[in-house]
Amino acid sequence: MSELESFRMEVREFLEANAPRSLRGTSPSGPFDGYWGGKKHPPVDPDVLKWRDVCYERGFTAPTWPKEYGGAGLSRKHAAVLYEEMRALGLPRPVVGFGFAMIGPTLLEFGNEEQKHEHLPKIARGEIRWCQGYSEPNAGSDLANVQMKAERDGDEFIVNGQKTWTSHADKSDWIFCLVRTSQEDRKQRGITFLLVDMESEGVSVRNIDLISGSSPFCETFFENVRVPVRNVVGQIGDGWTVGKALLQHERSNIGSSIGRQPGSGQRELVEKARHHLYWDGKRLEDAVMREKIAALGMEEEAFQLTLDRVAQKAQAGGNPGAESSILKVVATELKQARYELGQEIAGAAGLGWTGPGFSESDLEFTREWLRSRANTIEGGSSEIQRNIIAKRVLGLPDAK
Ligand SMILES: Cc1cc2nc3c(=O)[nH]c(=O)nc-3n(C[C@H](O)[C@H](O)[C@H](O)COP(=O)(O)OP(=O)(O)OC[C@H]3O[C@@H](n4cnc5c(N)ncnc54)[C@H](O)[C@@H]3O)c2cc1C
Repeated sequence: MSELESFRMEVREFLEANAPRSLRGTSPSGPFDGYWGGKKHPPVDPDVLKWRDVCYERGFTAPTWPKEYGGAGLSRKHAAVLYEEMRALGLPRPVVGFGFAMIGPTLLEFGNEEQKHEHLPKIARGEIRWCQGYSEPNAGSDLANVQMKAERDGDEFIVNGQKTWTSHADKSDWIFCLVRTSQEDRKQRGITFLLVDMESEGVSVRNIDLISGSSPFCETFFENVRVPVRNVVGQIGDGWTVGKALLQHERSNIGSSIGRQPGSGQRELVEKARHHLYWDGKRLEDAVMREKIAALGMEEEAFQLTLDRVAQKAQAGGNPGAESSILKVVATELKQARYELGQEIAGAAGLGWTGPGFSESDLEFTREWLRSRANTIEGGSSEIQRNIIAKRVLGLPDAK
């Protein structure tokens, strides 16, 4: 038996002995999407915490991170085996969130020892929840235009300004920010990557109300907030390098989290078609719809195979590069196409918001359809991803 196979056996035994029964089969289709953690997290099912604890003890909440930072020091190949076995039992990831997916890997690459020791174990244990302070009212696609100011005062910066569209800022404990520490000839220079404790005096958060009545978004304000200079990741003035690397983690995560197991997206549409369209007992009568569902299913399978190849390449080492923009564009546009087609199949049943005339699954599908509109904006819009692909992947010249 190869070393990897014996590791798989070890993982199976570990999961069999430790994974709470109540969580088995709940992922990815159940309502629970993993423990986001943080001090403000509402009370959760004790099994969720038990699952977090048993995994953390083995370093399995962040398996590829070095042991001294709360990980298990596993190779990407071994981590892939661990995740496969968790998936086979339908178990959620023990800890999820922007800490694990974005700032953690960025600190591993750019953080100093003090920062790694301070923050990574807390992320791995889900103790601290992080949010992302990049966008500002005049810095979204044009992110290098950030204006939030950090002025040096001895060992501290005094931070003033505003971030916007900060997802879950109201539920987070720390925020990683791009701030302007100087005005230079190019706007990409003079930006610094800064970690801010949201309990610092002068940080305030205001929820942004959306038409649906609830919103994950906030505006985050900073008024004379004192932040220690030791919270700078990388070099002062060179935050653009760190910020871009984090975005590549964000984009490849969005891409791979949208990928599905081969065929499952298509199965969902077939089920929907069975329910809403005329079915002659053997097959869907509407040939055009049959073809649309099959074509989308093939696209999704091809994308899943691409994701598998990317994952295999990643197992050999290396962080996501500008190619992560390709994954993001394809994944998010495929997802929107799936929801569009689902709505076409549902017809009038896809128009409901509440009320007894609509099934729970149709109502949920309609909400997800609306949510999918944001996928091609968050993490950088599709237009911006195409600009990056043109420039950094294909090496095309700038448009004049
Ligand atoms: C669900 C969601 C969650 C988010 N969470 C966060 C978060 O946690 N933290 C955070 O910092 N931000 C977050 N954002 C903000 C997100 O990063 C920005 O919305 C995004 O970068 C676009 O910026 P903008 O909204 O300012 O739009 P704009 O930059 O004003 O763009 C408007 C339109 O113009 C197009 N456009 C702009 N410039 C160009 C160009 N050069 N070439 C071609 N087309 C262009 C864009 O593609 C877009 O269609 C989130 C957004 C969403 C939707």
